[in-house]
Amino acid sequence: MSGIRVHAPAKVNLILRVLDRRTDGYHNLWSLMQTVGLEDELHIQLQPETTGVCLRCDDPTLPTDGRNLVARAASVVLERAGLSVGLDIRIVKRIPVSAGLGGGSSDAAATIVGLNRLLCLGWSAPEMAHVGQVLGSDVPFFFFAPTAQVRARGEDVVPMRLIGERWIVLLNPGFPIQTQWAYDRLAATRSGMTALSQGITRLAGKTQVDWDEVLPLMENDFEAALAPTHHVLEKMKRALISQGAQVALVSGSGATVFGVFPYEESAVQARDGLKRQHGWWASAIRAGSSSLGSHETFPLNCLQVG
Ligand code: ATP
Repeated sequence: MSGIRVHAPAKVNLILRVLDRRTDGYHNLWSLMQTVGLEDELHIQLQPETTGVCLRCDDPTLPTDGRNLVARAASVVLERAGLSVGLDIRIVKRIPVSAGLGGGSSDAAATIVGLNRLLCLGWSAPEMAHVGQVLGSDVPFFFFAPTAQVRARGEDVVPMRLIGERWIVLLNPGFPIQTQWAYDRLAATRSGMTALSQGITRLAGKTQVDWDEVLPLMENDFEAALAPTHHVLEKMKRALISQGAQVALVSGSGATVFGVFPYEESAVQARDGLKRQHGWWASAIRAGSSSLGSHETFPLNCLQVG
């Protein structure tokens, strides 16, 4: 095998608590993360005659040099595996960038999964997560998707089974929020840290949970921090609730807001209505079934590139 296609799903944070600041400057987190059916696509081809990573991306705003998380992930894998081969990687970008949906992290994880298969490295999910954790705090989660509790800096991941089916409507107002800026706002706006709720503490002890138990526990610490500067987030939440969402919440550090819907029809109707009415980017997708999936492409020269 010398070519592979890997799907990289977006995530939402059903719960995101930012806890105490650590001595290394990072915060301890407690999150319940969930992949959704909005995916980037990675096409990875081995070029055994050459060396170095040649990266292309259909989103011209993203760098294709060493700043791209895919290029960084590929370098980390090759270094760790002690290999020197050429790689041709093409990213089809569908997940909005700097939107709280973990697109860059998922692309990085997908690169590791793809190279693990392509180069027959035989790494387990925990080994891949260990390799990926240097690339970002959301990266380890994707090896244990679709649902997991994520703790500490993001490296402590406990997979969970989320029972039931729900549909997610993602709304994005069209501007990015840099994660570091959101953390700075959080530090500037809150006076202290509150402990995990009893409900979340109970949830943390379980290996499976029902959607109906999760819905009343959903919260995100970034919401209060972003509210004074980004009124549109509250507006998007209200709009989702008025369209029938059971819960609406900011994902990650924003600016994507998502609503949880019981049925596909109600989610699609909300997506279409909100897009038409407000002009926001919107997507209606299933929650719960997406994980990093790989599809081998053979023969290699059948792969469409460029
Ligand atoms: P998170 O929620 O994981 O903090 P995010 O979802 O808000 O992140 P991303 O879309 O993952 O944001 O991108 C964050 C940053 O990473 C941006 O500055 C972007 O330029 C950079 N980046 C590097 N490689 C990629 C990639 N392949 N896809 C998206 N962003 C990338």
